[in-house]
Amino acid sequence: MTVSVVLFTSDLRLHDNPVLAAALRDAEQIVPLFVYDTGVHRTGFDAPNRRAFLADCLADLDSGLRTRGGRLVVRSGDVVDQVCAVVRSVGASRVHVAGGVSRYATAREVRLRSALAGSGCTLAVHDAVVTAVAPGAITPAGSDHYAVFTPYFRRWTEEGARDVAPTPRKVQVADVASEPLIGRTEIAGVSAGLAEGGETAGRRQLHAWLKSGIAGYEDGHDDLAGDATSRLSPFLHFGALSAAELVHLARGEGSSGAEAFVRQLAWRDFHHQVLAARPDAAGEDYRPRGDAWRSDKQEIAAWQEGRTGYPLVDAAMRQLAHEGWMHNRGRMLVASFLTKTLYVDWRVGARHFLDLLADGDVANNQLNWQWAAGTGTDTRPNRVLNPVVQGKRFDLKGAYVRRWVPELADVADRYVHEPWKLEGLDRAGLDYPDPIVELAEGRARFERARGV
Ligand code: FAD
Repeated sequence: MTVSVVLFTSDLRLHDNPVLAAALRDAEQIVPLFVYDTGVHRTGFDAPNRRAFLADCLADLDSGLRTRGGRLVVRSGDVVDQVCAVVRSVGASRVHVAGGVSRYATAREVRLRSALAGSGCTLAVHDAVVTAVAPGAITPAGSDHYAVFTPYFRRWTEEGARDVAPTPRKVQVADVASEPLIGRTEIAGVSAGLAEGGETAGRRQLHAWLKSGIAGYEDGHDDLAGDATSRLSPFLHFGALSAAELVHLARGEGSSGAEAFVRQLAWRDFHHQVLAARPDAAGEDYRPRGDAWRSDKQEIAAWQEGRTGYPLVDAAMRQLAHEGWMHNRGRMLVASFLTKTLYVDWRVGARHFLDLLADGDVANNQLNWQWAAGTGTDTRPNRVLNPVVQGKRFDLKGAYVRRWVPELADVADRYVHEPWKLEGLDRAGLDYPDPIVELAEGRARFERARGV
């Protein structure tokens, strides 16, 4: 009996999973394996919200495998040790895994390859599982990656997403011991409003989005109160949904909203190919600007807790704490506010996001933070977003602010983004902080530092 091991990592799905499809093609039995990897724990990456979302994804994967005659095999410990133990125990001839882009994922691949060498078991690494187009599949002349999005997007569109892999109907699992799954309720410190994870929930949300959300995406994606984006990012992060399948399904929908949505999926691939080529960009400036960042503990705490005195910034930070997710417009604003108006190191903000985001992802988070800080791929690195102007543009009536900052629920529309302009009794009764910094002052300080 031939046996292959499928090491699930960022591809926790049965639909369009080339890793699983390849394993089922080349062996009579498989071991669908997930390892609670102590190495990931040591990186500090397994924050409660992501652990909870992961718990849902694994429970759903297990149940999907069971309905197909199989089950998920779970181990805990060092991922390489665990894979080798399973390989030995079932006499597997191949291990299949998705290619990753983070330094951790590439090191895991190298370690796995060397641990399996000489064992009679080979390692098959599959590209374009996590992304729609594999990192490195398209490169500009004379470089190993695209540093600017627009030309990347042009080539990415020409290249097209790979074909969708078949969904297995039956899965035969080799006899091997498994540990119990960790349930979501066993995890402490999870945000009260965290969404449900798992492929089934993801596909439900995806189909609702294709039916009634995507067509309005181009016009509505920046409307903070409208909440008119897909909210698929955590499913994509864990691979409960496939980016390649999403590209095909969205293109099939055919609206201009769908095209705008596909462009965002290309941004995701773009950041992955930058990180694949420059793994140090997870922690080092991609384009150093000679910044001498400030570090004011009180200001950082006010930003984290959503009490900067700027309603839109505070609303977005409170959404993050409550849901483990934040609207993209909010992410751009709070990142600009921290790195430019307060002139605090982007790594401080990126860390806080990673502590809370269900979709927290090394490629997307670190490189979007660098983009916002002007140390990354933004072609206008010194632009500063103004929270009042952004509020009047993307939350005109203040509905988003009122949803997340109840102290401002009764403030008139024209003051909701500038409550410090209230006077007399209206001001006296307000339990909301004054701005921690003057916007003009913050901007001047940043521009002086950057020499612009
Ligand atoms: P939609 O608007 O529906 O977009 C569809 C998908 O496209 C998203 O699910 C996401 O996978 C992808 N996408 C959209 N915008 C971007 C973008 N700018 N960069 C990369 N991919 C994008 N996204 C993450 O997935 N993980 C992160 O850790 C993360 N951190 C961020 C930090 C900052 C400072 C900023 C400015 C953005 C960050 N983003 C991150 C990108 C973006 O904000 C989220 O992907 C998006 O808000 C998720 O909501 P959605 O699924 O409704 O997106």
